[in-house]
Amino acid sequence: MHEPALLPWHADAWGQLVGMSNLPHAFLLVGPAGIGKRAFAARLAAWLLCLQPRDGQACGSCRSCLLREAGSHPDLFQVGPEEEGKQIRIERIRNLIDFINQTAQQGGRKVVLLDPADAMNQNASNALLKTLEEPAQDTFLLLVSDQPGLLLPTVRSRCRHLSLSGPDATSALDWLRESLSGLPDDQLALLLALAGGAPLRALQLHEQAVLEHLERVVTGIKQLLKDQVSVSVLADRLKSVPLLLLVDWLHDWTLTLQKLKLGLPAECAVADMQPVLGYMARHAAAAELQAWQDWLLQHRRMLLTKANLNQTLLLESLWLHWKRLGKRR
Ligand SMILES: [Zn+2]
Repeated sequence: MHEPALLPWHADAWGQLVGMSNLPHAFLLVGPAGIGKRAFAARLAAWLLCLQPRDGQACGSCRSCLLREAGSHPDLFQVGPEEEGKQIRIERIRNLIDFINQTAQQGGRKVVLLDPADAMNQNASNALLKTLEEPAQDTFLLLVSDQPGLLLPTVRSRCRHLSLSGPDATSALDWLRESLSGLPDDQLALLLALAGGAPLRALQLHEQAVLEHLERVVTGIKQLLKDQVSVSVLADRLKSVPLLLLVDWLHDWTLTLQKLKLGLPAECAVADMQPVLGYMARHAAAAELQAWQDWLLQHRRMLLTKANLNQTLLLESLWLHWKRLGKRR
């Protein structure tokens, strides 16, 4: 493949983009997580850098395309946090500004890919502003964000917004089936449900062996409620399950539990959990459920901010809470 593939549900957005007569110097690509914004931005960068684009796409064979494919294009600059979930600091933006102030080494355009742009802290955003206000010749900034609300309004307003959406449920399933040939449809559908319908997120979840993790969690929960396993044994057994994933599942299930508690119809994407939640809804007290949800959200925030948490203690506390919920009355 010569250039980043175009996801079928982004074909219209792409067509409009390459048909623009006047390209803005800064783009802000927004849309839900896991739908392929990064792939779109990579394709856009390739097209902008290509020396002889054809049919609205990079040629894949010019000097510039070859350099880019080798990952060594001197006029492409990618900026992200040093580590996933961390902030983009001002030093990184200063490097970006240095890059912009240099002459293009290949004699063509220069492209900056800033992803996720919402990871910039305040100082970094302020430093970037000046660059956005005084665009350099033949230089393009591509900002990517799932959460544009976190960006400074002044940063947002200086970019051309390009809003990307995800596929409908059928196209998502078709695409995932093609990407993960051999996986049965019920598993594909479950992956998509766990990913909130975002196909690239579903693919990523598959790569993290999420369905295996999920099965172990559901089995563990059943055993816990039947007193077949202790809290500490379960905490130890499930310590390899990514914590944020686990917390998100429990949070989803808690929402389902609350609806069931209120007598509302609620269906769990994980079919095996439905009877478990039905059982728990009959036992859990409403106040306890609320307290548990608060606990869960508080710890989720701590996980997201990479607060220093004792994982063993957290897991034991989590499973103890959950067990108590199912044991009331
Ligand atoms: Zn080319």
